[in-house]
Amino acid sequence: MSVWVIAEQRDGNLQKVSLELLGKGKELANKLGTNLVAVLAGYEIEKLAKTLIRYGADEVLVLDHILLKNYTTDGYTKAIEKVVKCKNPEIILIGATNIGRDLGPRLAARLKTGLTADCTGLDIDENSKNLLMTRPAFGGNLMATIECPNHRPQMATVRPGVFPLPCPDEKREGKIQKIEVDLKEKDIRTVVEKIVKSLEDKVDITEAKVIVSGGRGLGSKEGFELLKELASLLGGVVGASRAAVDSGWIGKDHQVGQTGKTVRPKLYIACGISGAIQHLAGMQDSEYIIAINKDENAPIMSIADLAIVGDLYKVIPELINEIKAY
Ligand code: FAD
Repeated sequence: MSVWVIAEQRDGNLQKVSLELLGKGKELANKLGTNLVAVLAGYEIEKLAKTLIRYGADEVLVLDHILLKNYTTDGYTKAIEKVVKCKNPEIILIGATNIGRDLGPRLAARLKTGLTADCTGLDIDENSKNLLMTRPAFGGNLMATIECPNHRPQMATVRPGVFPLPCPDEKREGKIQKIEVDLKEKDIRTVVEKIVKSLEDKVDITEAKVIVSGGRGLGSKEGFELLKELASLLGGVVGASRAAVDSGWIGKDHQVGQTGKTVRPKLYIACGISGAIQHLAGMQDSEYIIAINKDENAPIMSIADLAIVGDLYKVIPELINEIKAY
């Protein structure tokens, strides 16, 4: 009956979404009156197990094998499938990262169960005790809640950033169990020859406390220079709507929303962004939202804590001057 989180690590670093899932997973496990188990796969990664316990896992299953050093679909699927079949968890949660989006469906097919991809909400139905998995549908125009009543385990991939990071408890104790992994080179049909890291200056907008985001209202790529200046004065980073990204004004790493990243900073400043539902899906849980828009009826204005009606090219330079003078 246990709830499982497949923890993702890269180069020995746990991905934040795995810790977020432990927070939510604990809540689900409590509602079911069961244990929260984290599965940790890789090579020489056992030291990460304690962190998973601090973040809420009652037990960590460690799958440590040289052939799990780099992620491969075959290797990870085979190793995890075996332990799932042996222990029969009720629920399996996976982060909707590139790796999770690859692993989740393959594992679900092997286990002959369903998978709800890219969830933004999870709960337990009080009567049936089934997992309720919520995700945007029809281009983000409605939220669908999906159940998997007849198959086990119930599986979901979950978008990074939708659940808060739980507070680690340094004193927390749990069980660490090493699982024997039976993998041979011939089980893995692909070979990772080299990992080439992108030289681009990648931003992680999901970690930022302040995001200054720009949309089509900026009118050009150059408009982002103004936003960068404001963001750097506030110690933040620059985000963007999909319209700005699709126009080639800024990289996809900066995109906030349904097909971009989900963020929850302390301060989100939306400049020249109308507030389409797909954009709101990625930022509406921000602590304080300021919207700067020429149109007082733009949807973003109704969810903003502070709505500034005006031309962003007048408002932002004034804001920058005020901050510099402060
Ligand atoms: P617009 O809607 O064109 O809004 C521009 C705004 O700027 C207007 O409100 C205007 O009044 C204002 N403005 C213009 N000039 C100025 C000025 N000088 N000063 C102040 N204000 C000004 N969108 C996302 O953002 N993220 C996503 O992840 C995403 N995923 C999607 C997924 C699907 C399946 C679909 C169908 C759509 C998705 N979209 C996403 C697109 C979304 O529907 C909108 O098209 C997009 O968010 C609009 O971007 P925008 O607000 O920048 O542009």
